[in-house]
Amino acid sequence: MRISVAIDGPAGAGKSTIAKLVAKKFNLMYINTGAMYRSVALVADKNGLKPENKSEILKMIKTLEMHFENDDLYLNGKNVQDEITMPHINSIVSSYASIKEIREELVELQREMSKKFDVIMDGRDIGTVVLKDSKFKFFLTATPEERAERRFKELKARNIECSYNEILKDIIRRDYEDSTRAIDPLKKAEDAVEIDTTGLDINEVTDKICDEINLKLNK
Ligand code: C5P
Repeated sequence: MRISVAIDGPAGAGKSTIAKLVAKKFNLMYINTGAMYRSVALVADKNGLKPENKSEILKMIKTLEMHFENDDLYLNGKNVQDEITMPHINSIVSSYASIKEIREELVELQREMSKKFDVIMDGRDIGTVVLKDSKFKFFLTATPEERAERRFKELKARNIECSYNEILKDIIRRDYEDSTRAIDPLKKAEDAVEIDTTGLDINEVTDKICDEINLKLNK
């Protein structure tokens, strides 16, 4: 039987860092679904396609081959991880992710991956839509200030010019857009275990998740 672990939560809650560690412990493939939405935003933006240019974007998606290698997203054979995590993409991705048809395409790709591999996926709609039947669902949260601080440190470590206040504003705006959109909004699945990561270190959260998975596996 395939194992699928779902991790949802707002931007900067620690999902990807923690999902990578849990993936190593249980030998799962880490699928960063945010990276998939970011890639669509990146290519659409480069081609001058706005979110409302739906049919052109859908045609464009058909030409994209996405896969994950060592936790990074490869788009048509090229590692785009750095490009898709730039502040400009942060500011435009949610408007592309709110389009129903774009979501349908990406959800389909994500489900195909979960059929082929044992996976851990992080995103906004994994426990509620993509892996609705998963036995292992987690919802990570933290205060907006702590999440902005984490993103600020990440960007500084990469020598990317940024301001804490701008990042905080972007996080609050994305939380709002992601949780109020009509299609598959960010929401805790009823059967997800919620973990507030404010003040917790990465290992403490990872251990909580691993303990929970082991408990259910041994039932
Ligand atoms: O997880 P990350 O912050 O990289 O996601 C970028 C954006 O992609 C989110 O703000 C959200 O708009 C969108 N997203 C989504 N559904 C997912 C994953 C990400 O709508 N499953």
